[in-house]
Amino acid sequence: SATTPGLPIHSTGKKRRIGVMTSGGDAPGMNGAVRAVVRMSIASGCEAYAIYEGYDGLVNGGDMIREMGWEDVRGFLSEGGTLIGTARCMAFMERPGRLKAAKNMIIKGIDALVICGGDGSLTGADKFRAEWPGLLKELVETGELTQEQIQPYQTLNIVGLVGSIDNDLSMTDATIGCYSSLARICEAVDSVDTTASSHQRAFVIEVMGRHCGWLALMAGVSTGADFVFLPESPPSENWEAEMCALVKEHRSKGKRKTIVIVAEGAHDQGLNKITPQHVKNLLSDKAHLDTRITTLGHVQRGGTPVAYDRMLATLQGTEAVKAVLEATPDTPSPVICVIENKIVRRPLLEAVAQTKEVANAIHAKDFARAMSLRDAEFAEYYQAYQITTKIEHAHLKLPENERMRIGIIHVGAPAGGMNAATRAAVAYCLARGHTPIALHNGFPGLIRHHSDEPLGAVREIKWIDAETWVSKGGSEIGTNRGLPSEDLETVSKVFHKHNIQALFVVGGFEAFTAVSELRKGREHYKSFKIPMVILPATISNNVPGTEYSIGSDTCLNALIQYCDACRQSASASRRRVFVIETQGGESGYIATIAGLSIGALAVYTPEEGISLKMLDKDIDHLRDVFRKDKGQNRGGKVILVNEKASKTYNVRIIADMILEAGKGKFESRHGIPGHFQQGTTPSPMDRVRATRFGVKSIQHLESFAGKTPDEIDDEPMSAAVIGIKGAKVLFSPMERVEKKETDWKLRRPKDEFWMGLKNIVDTLSGRPNYPKP
Ligand code: ATP
Repeated sequence: SATTPGLPIHSTGKKRRIGVMTSGGDAPGMNGAVRAVVRMSIASGCEAYAIYEGYDGLVNGGDMIREMGWEDVRGFLSEGGTLIGTARCMAFMERPGRLKAAKNMIIKGIDALVICGGDGSLTGADKFRAEWPGLLKELVETGELTQEQIQPYQTLNIVGLVGSIDNDLSMTDATIGCYSSLARICEAVDSVDTTASSHQRAFVIEVMGRHCGWLALMAGVSTGADFVFLPESPPSENWEAEMCALVKEHRSKGKRKTIVIVAEGAHDQGLNKITPQHVKNLLSDKAHLDTRITTLGHVQRGGTPVAYDRMLATLQGTEAVKAVLEATPDTPSPVICVIENKIVRRPLLEAVAQTKEVANAIHAKDFARAMSLRDAEFAEYYQAYQITTKIEHAHLKLPENERMRIGIIHVGAPAGGMNAATRAAVAYCLARGHTPIALHNGFPGLIRHHSDEPLGAVREIKWIDAETWVSKGGSEIGTNRGLPSEDLETVSKVFHKHNIQALFVVGGFEAFTAVSELRKGREHYKSFKIPMVILPATISNNVPGTEYSIGSDTCLNALIQYCDACRQSASASRRRVFVIETQGGESGYIATIAGLSIGALAVYTPEEGISLKMLDKDIDHLRDVFRKDKGQNRGGKVILVNEKASKTYNVRIIADMILEAGKGKFESRHGIPGHFQQGTTPSPMDRVRATRFGVKSIQHLESFAGKTPDEIDDEPMSAAVIGIKGAKVLFSPMERVEKKETDWKLRRPKDEFWMGLKNIVDTLSGRPNYPKP
């Protein structure tokens, strides 16, 4: 072989050249992928080439295939669309087009391609790879190239990145761009919501997705829509009557608005298209609602990528370069996927084949199969959606003796998604026949309960109370940092008095501590021998037992918005560095992931601390960066500092040090976004995950129905934390997590999964290696 796996050098002795291309429909985050591939290639000792305008660039060659330097991708992370262009290329569909493409690749010396696009683009890429030896042979036979020219390029390496707003590829939970698109949709639906409520109107909203209902479903989950139409799961035969009945029922319970979401590819069981107009007519004529249609169209494709897409694009782009370097002639082409929180490689051909199967199954009216071919996550969201929308589920109701009185409490600072989790829990409780009970204002609320609050701190929650909470920030039932240990005796009395039979706790590290105290309190108080679950919700994402706390995504989006504004200001005045303080307590998660999402020059975390040597090296690096900056006037420079990274060096001091070192050649500003980081409305990701985990949490609690207090006490999972660990969503027993996984002094998990990502931030910003303190 002409290349040895792992080596960036070609058999010709030259550096390997890795091409990167965006193809098919554009998607927010594609630029982040291009940046990551370019910089990771260079950092690994290769050269990077951009192929402009998708396969058109490959077929036409010449100036459409150009080397990309480190500086050429500065500022790419925060730009929407694709800056290297994309196209649908007819020529590449035919062999003569691919023959030209092969010739151009060899002339340019490129033998590896990273392609970011949808299933069509990836199919084309794999076909190209399969034909490669034949194409080379033909090029020699026809005299277009010589044997010597093709000799070093016997194999072509292809790696796929899925860039698509539809999230339609099988084997991955998310595609680059889908969460940005969902964010656009949710902004729009939230806006329509307010006017719908004001006028008591109904709105039918059409969203993109020909064979894939992901956007429609997730929009439904995150906005609390009344009805959704998905291609994979058409409604029942008499859906027209059912929809009208459901909508009327919601209205009769006091709902002032109706939102119905229709995927572009929606149809009934007979594959007859369901159009927004048809749904509108039904709502107007049969349900007698003043109904309007909103078609979102290309708005859904556009705009700035959200934090998640920037992170995903960056992690997947770096993984793609690793995959290129590790490939052997026998490795099947991989596509880079994500399962829950884990970046994985999957065989490209299988992923594409499975994706096509979904469309085939829909065509064959085998909808059960279409659903089963989607990821497990999709089916779970679908169930969660159905349960949280319908009020009466006769078939879901539990027998009387299995119904529980379930307390719901918020602990700690507010975090985006707390209300969505509570709404889902309430809806699920009602569907099953449980009684959801809000414990207002955290544990201090309960402890003061006996005194004089007019309504009392313990109140049943009705469906209509919780119905509008899905998109609300803050905490509707009130949250407080206080712990049960303030007065365990009173907490126990209140639990007893109100016959609380299970507890759902939503919050951050304090919530975790609270559940730990209650669990330990079981020794003395029988009323704590009930099942309890904590759903981690904190912007700091520092709760042991999970890699993801709801609210952290909302925070990242607020933070990158702030940083983007600073960067823009910094790049307008060119020679300026912004030093920005992030929250996060003793955990550098927020700072690191925000750093990854904006391309920070340096990130300082409490885990690493800050030493004078680090500052010195980073200031040297800054001098270097400004020296090389030829005034492209893109992307100002940002340094992120966690609030607890150092007792000595705060953002003000660091900014002053930079100013002095800059000697007039560059200057600095500092910024402290503070509580702005809690965000306003929760991000769609926090809303949908809160909904899914809220339902799962109550399912876990109800599995203890009918057990005696002592049986519950004996069962380690009766006090549990729900979370994401790697590729799985799971419950972990509190006792183990408390003892084995928690750093109580620093209030964070002992093992922080994201520590490995820190190196990627440094590599991609070109930050020099320095001795770790
Ligand atoms: P989107 O998510 O927007 O549908 P996509 O990548 O699936 O993205 P397509 O239009 O299907 O979009 O494909 C993009 C380009 O990939 C095509 O214009 C064509 O150049 C190439 N391509 C697609 N399918 C094939 C194929 N079977 N053989 C060769 N090339 C293909």
